[in-house]
Amino acid sequence: VALGEQELVRAQLNELHEKYQAFGEEQVVSYYPEDAPEEQRHLFGLAGTNVDGTQWQAGDCSVPFPLHSVSKVFTYGLALEDNGADATLARVGVEPSGDPFNSITFDEVHHRPHNPMINSGALVAASLVRGRDVDEKVDRILERYRAYSGNPALAVDQRILRAQLRSNDRNLGICYVMRSLGMITGDVDEVVETYLSACSITVTAADLSVMGATLAKGGINPMTGERAVPREYVRDIVSVMMTCGMYDAAGQWANEVGIPAKSGVSGDIVCVLPRYFGFGVYSPGLDVHGNSVRGVALCRELSETFGLHVFADP
Ligand code: GLN
Repeated sequence: VALGEQELVRAQLNELHEKYQAFGEEQVVSYYPEDAPEEQRHLFGLAGTNVDGTQWQAGDCSVPFPLHSVSKVFTYGLALEDNGADATLARVGVEPSGDPFNSITFDEVHHRPHNPMINSGALVAASLVRGRDVDEKVDRILERYRAYSGNPALAVDQRILRAQLRSNDRNLGICYVMRSLGMITGDVDEVVETYLSACSITVTAADLSVMGATLAKGGINPMTGERAVPREYVRDIVSVMMTCGMYDAAGQWANEVGIPAKSGVSGDIVCVLPRYFGFGVYSPGLDVHGNSVRGVALCRELSETFGLHVFADP
């Protein structure tokens, strides 16, 4: 992209950000946590990182937030790397479930969770990460996330982790059911703690855009040149984002936005446009599916404006 063109893109992005800053309040059905403080509710950041290292930012791009479900993408990558694709796929599928993220339903034909982007599948993926104990697993997860983001300071927010461990009946329930069905083995508390630790790693929208760009660049971080995941697994990771990344709104997202993405209850979304760039959006107000209201609306228009839908007629 020529320099003048870049300025134009930046101006358009700022305009979009401004437009959606005032948008959607009436469509918000929840915040997470429910008692999120007022000043946090209105945060809104959009950051992008190109595979050549060019970056842009609009709004609140340096505010840290927990990854929550966006972590599922990167932990799945590590599960693939630690176990290989065949062994991983034997334990967790790649089919959209059409059910909410925390649903207690399984692929009964293949005897596994539907996919790694919902809680059941993410818990299995966390259980597949290599390591002697929770600490070692979480250390390996952190090391990977740092490679994806190029930010050596990424860490688990212990306060957020503890809060999640306190109100965690659903994930425990899913794990107990899965263990009774033979889908996971071992200590349920360890599986849940590994998964929730990954959910509690805090990043900024800027970090998130680099994490997305790393996937867009075949697993190599465009800012540091470091490889975060073997190239052979990038296709698997990004495919499952495309089909399952937006919970039970994945089909609508594929139709309207058409960019592989993953959302989390913080109101965060990571988008990956293979070979081009990644972007990170953060805006806490959530819709009925648990996706960021502003994030979804902004991405829809972004895709339209810049012709980013991967299946659009060029
Ligand atoms: N930590 C949350 C949970 O497991 C993540 C859920 C989400 O982002 N949808 O319940």
